[in-house]
Amino acid sequence: MMLNIVLFGPPGAGKGTQSEKIIDKYKLSHLSTGDLFRKHLSEGTELGKLAQKYMDEGNLVPDEVVIRMVEFKIMNEPESPGFIFDGFPRTVMQAKALDILLENMGQAISGMIILDVDEEELKKRILLRGQSSGRTDDQDVEKINNRIRVYREETLPVAEYYQAQNKFYKIKGVGSLDEIFKDICRVIDNLPVNMVE
Ligand code: AMP
Repeated sequence: MMLNIVLFGPPGAGKGTQSEKIIDKYKLSHLSTGDLFRKHLSEGTELGKLAQKYMDEGNLVPDEVVIRMVEFKIMNEPESPGFIFDGFPRTVMQAKALDILLENMGQAISGMIILDVDEEELKKRILLRGQSSGRTDDQDVEKINNRIRVYREETLPVAEYYQAQNKFYKIKGVGSLDEIFKDICRVIDNLPVNMVE
């Protein structure tokens, strides 16, 4: 059985940073839909052009588009020992589509880990990241507020979706990077999927 983790949380919670550490330790494939969209944007593909206006405003790219891109990525890595999903799923419809996709491969989500960070801290972190990331959506307070609102209204229901499947794990996303990572590892090492084998 593969290890498939959804790393969940609002923008600025530290998903990207912690993903790198998780990948390093557990040798999983990274699937960040935000990174994939930014790559398409920089390469000027049709998909990139389509996604741009949504990303610029801090709104979600339509589900069909996101799901097709994720499917393509998963299908292209048949040898993967498992995935860390970063910034995906962001709607209940995406979560359901992911379940079906994995089920067709005889796989499932092992667990969802949510990084809990309060909103003031998020805004500070995103603005700070904007100074070096070059991401325009990290530099505008209006856009940042919109992204946090979209997270609350459209993405948080995904947490309940995994809670209903008993796959929900909450971690404090404030503190030293290593401390947070240790908490994440404790969750991963104790997932049911790791216990049965
Ligand atoms: P991120 O890097 O995860 O913060 O994503 C940056 C932007 O890409 C978001 O504000 C959305 O416009 C878009 N995006 C990334 N992932 C998704 C997703 N799973 N569903 C819809 N839009 C997404």
